[in-house]
Amino acid sequence: MHKYFHTIVVGGGCLGVAAAVSLARRQGARNRVCLVEKAVLGAGLSSRHSAIVRSANASSIAATLAAKSTGMWKDLSNLWGARVACDRVGGIWIGAGSPSTDDPNPWRDLEVSMKGVGVDLHAIDQAEVGRLTSGKLRLDPDELYFFEPEVLQLEASDVLRAMQEAIAVNRVELYEHTRVEQFLTDGQGAICGAKTNHGELRCDFIVNAAGGWSANLFAPLGLRIPVALEPVYAANWLVSASDLPENLPIIADYVNLAYFRRWRGSILHMHQPRERGPHGIAASFARSMMNPVGADIIYDAANYAITQQQSARYSDKVRERFPAVGRPIYGGGYVSYFDITPDLKFILGKDDHVANLFHVLGAGQALKYAPIFGELIAELVLEGHTRDWDLEEFSIARFTDKPLREFWRDEGASQSLNRL
Ligand SMILES: Cc1cc2nc3c(=O)[nH]c(=O)nc-3n(C[C@H](O)[C@H](O)[C@H](O)COP(=O)(O)OP(=O)(O)OC[C@H]3O[C@@H](n4cnc5c(N)ncnc54)[C@H](O)[C@@H]3O)c2cc1C
Repeated sequence: MHKYFHTIVVGGGCLGVAAAVSLARRQGARNRVCLVEKAVLGAGLSSRHSAIVRSANASSIAATLAAKSTGMWKDLSNLWGARVACDRVGGIWIGAGSPSTDDPNPWRDLEVSMKGVGVDLHAIDQAEVGRLTSGKLRLDPDELYFFEPEVLQLEASDVLRAMQEAIAVNRVELYEHTRVEQFLTDGQGAICGAKTNHGELRCDFIVNAAGGWSANLFAPLGLRIPVALEPVYAANWLVSASDLPENLPIIADYVNLAYFRRWRGSILHMHQPRERGPHGIAASFARSMMNPVGADIIYDAANYAITQQQSARYSDKVRERFPAVGRPIYGGGYVSYFDITPDLKFILGKDDHVANLFHVLGAGQALKYAPIFGELIAELVLEGHTRDWDLEEFSIARFTDKPLREFWRDEGASQSLNRL
């Protein structure tokens, strides 16, 4: 006898957990939802995030979704039955630019567009930056500073615990160490189950939350899921507790190309932001095609070290921005990747070929969206549409019949890639 489920969610990262939990909670006692994870819960890219939840984004809809999701993180027990501690430290954005408000500047444009959708991102002066950071940042007259007060800082281990708890509380049937090897089809264009290394599972609906693995997983069905892996280095630095304030805001430093946050125990964590230029994005797609290991590189223990050259480069960035830290002490790092799409927008919604397949992946920064994406997937699966959001901008159909190179060739598209 095969096991039958209403919905099989493939991939036990933050997005798979969010989708499975929202589906199960809405189905109540009739819930038949399972989550299939080839390793263990949270082992994929969701083991590498910096636990930052922020909203400002060049896409107004993405920003509004992130703002709504921020509220959900703060009140997670209502949604998931598990709570997460949220520190509202705020975020300081640093961009290059002249202080004259007459000069055109993309940061000021962003401030205006965020105001239009109710996301608070406002310019602050050097005195305010000094106050927010206890004077620990090096500032420059040719830089612009913006503050996003609603930015949250979570703890990665707390997020993992909440994911595990939410799965248990909402009675999602969890299959860890279980790899989907093949999808079973009903001959009429629908998926009716999945073949795993532990046997077959049958279902009415499938949710793809397999992130960076999606392209290979769905290729045998003839589906093209354009997601690539952009390499990123993350490093932790041990600093004196007096070098950084306890409640240091997140620093999104687009002059030095580095995100900084403080982990508990006076560790300064950093990594580079995503590549925004069309050439860099195209290179990630080309590299991914030549990478036989695919997203499994994340499971390679050798990636838990970064080269001396990388660490020297990052150390310079720390000294540049935080002069009080002096020479920072290396406290570990790793090589990882961002899961990106050709236009840097996530894929969220129904597949355009397979009627009962839904995708949720490719955000590059998916943790922050997890609670709201889970709710939207549940609405799509259970009601056939979302109640309050038009998700066409994020549909997989935007890639249908469009060669990838067109996303990088067209000048308009490359400008719109310059997003946060
Ligand atoms: C350095 C760094 C910092 C980041 N910081 C932040 C941040 O501060 N805030 C933020 O919002 N985002 C951040 N991100 C991004 C975030 O980590 C990812 O976007 C997010 O974790 C992706 O989650 P996911 O559930 O889509 O994918 P994953 O966590 O990768 O989950 C996919 C899962 O699918 C499983 N799987 C694959 N194939 C199969 C199969 N055949 N059968 C069964 N299971 C399968 C995998 O094992 C994996 O566990 C950061 C990323 C990096 C690299």
